Formats: sequence, structure tokens, C-alpha cells
Amino acid sequence: MIDEATFRSNLARIEERIAAACSRAGRARKEVTLVAVSKLQPAEAIEVAWKVGVRHFGENYAQELRDKHAQLGSTCPGIHWHAIGPVQTKNAKYLARAANTFHAVERLEVAEELSRRREGAPLECLIEVNVGAEDTKAGVAPSEVPGLVKAIRALPHLQLVGLTAMPPLSDDPEAARPYFKALAKLARVEGLTQLSMGTTSDFEAAIEEGATMIRVGTALFGQRPTK
Ligand SMILES: *Cc1c(COP(=O)(O)O)cnc(C)c1O
Repeated sequence: MIDEATFRSNLARIEERIAAACSRAGRARKEVTLVAVSKLQPAEAIEVAWKVGVRHFGENYAQELRDKHAQLGSTCPGIHWHAIGPVQTKNAKYLARAANTFHAVERLEVAEELSRRREGAPLECLIEVNVGAEDTKAGVAPSEVPGLVKAIRALPHLQLVGLTAMPPLSDDPEAARPYFKALAKLARVEGLTQLSMGTTSDFEAAIEEGATMIRVGTALFGQRPTK
């Protein structure tokens, strides 16, 4: 597991690269939220990051989020939990209780269940778009976005704020750029302000194309244990 000194230096390097990308794009650093993707990392790794000052964490699996949320509630106050992976309807209740922002709405049925289960402040949501039209990827086709936007906006306990992209994997950080551009355009058309895009391999291009939330795991925590 990661130690504090290593995490601190990883974070400093990422922050430098975020600042440089913001500067190239003429954007302010505060327009971009760095979400530390802690999925499959032990809760202790989150405690290390929390000590260093990180408050935004991203989790993929509903039960893992539920457990970490419960375990860290008292020791690490002030965490903003981002649920970044799609959820099955039957597990949506965990997410409705534990998440502050959900990045991966891809079915109306799940959105309806989340709205039914949510108590307190509306759950901030983003629709995940399958920008590369990949069979293996989650997310809705760009053509389905307007209909889903309209339906989600009618739900009382969700607040739709933006769109999420997971472009095709590539070794070339520039390969994702056209997909980031397309997502930004789609969000503009729908009047949505938040763009969740960019991971360890391509967050700089994402920031240059307007990302407001980047999801970085490996570059902060190191290699993930496998599931
Ligand atoms: C795991 C994951 C990430 C983080 O990926 P890294 O390459 O480790 O930065 C970002 N977004 C989603 C949806 C993920 O599942």
C-alpha cells in the first residue's frame, strides 16, 4: 500500500501537470476537480490521501463504496464520494446513501431507483456516454442523450449536471482528444456544465478540452490490486 511520502510526491507531480494544462487552456485551476480514484485500494490508502488533503474520491463498485463510506465516516470527515462506475438497479440503494456525485447514469431504470431511494440533498448525476461506440463499454449512444436528459430532469431527487466519457483505451494520450471534444459539444447542446473526462493516461488533453472533473487512480495510488 502507498505511504504518505510517495502519495505526497505523486500528488505534487499531478498537480504540476494539471496546472500546466489549465494554463495552456487559459483555465483556472479551481475549474477542475481532481477525483482520486481509490477503487480496489484499501481504506487505509484513502486515509493516507485524506491526511495529505484530498477530499474527492472515486469508487466503481456500489458495495465497496458502501463499506468505505461506513468505515471512514468518522475518521475522515468531509469526503465527497464520487461513484464513477455503472450500478445495477438492485445495488442502487447503496449508492443513493453513500455517493455525493454519480458519474455513470446509463439507464433510466437506475436513475428512477436512485431518485426513489435518495434522502436529503438531490444526488448530483452525470450521464455516461459511450463516445467510441464500443460494444464492450458502458454508456449510452450520443443519439440517446437528449431523451435521457429530459427524463432524468423530471426526477425529483436527482440533479443532472453533466456528461461522462470513457474513450477507447489507447497508448496515445492524444487519441482521446476527439472524443473529449465531442462530449463537450454534446454537453453544450444540452445545457450541461460538468464534464467528467480524463484518467491517468489522458487527463491533460481532457483539461484542455474542458474537463471539470478528472478521474485519476494509478498515477496517485500506484498499481491497483486486482479484483
Ligand atoms: C479505474 C477508473 C479510472 C482511473 O483510471 P486510472 O487509469 O487508474 O487513472 C477512471 N475512471 C473510471 C470510470 C475508472 O473505472
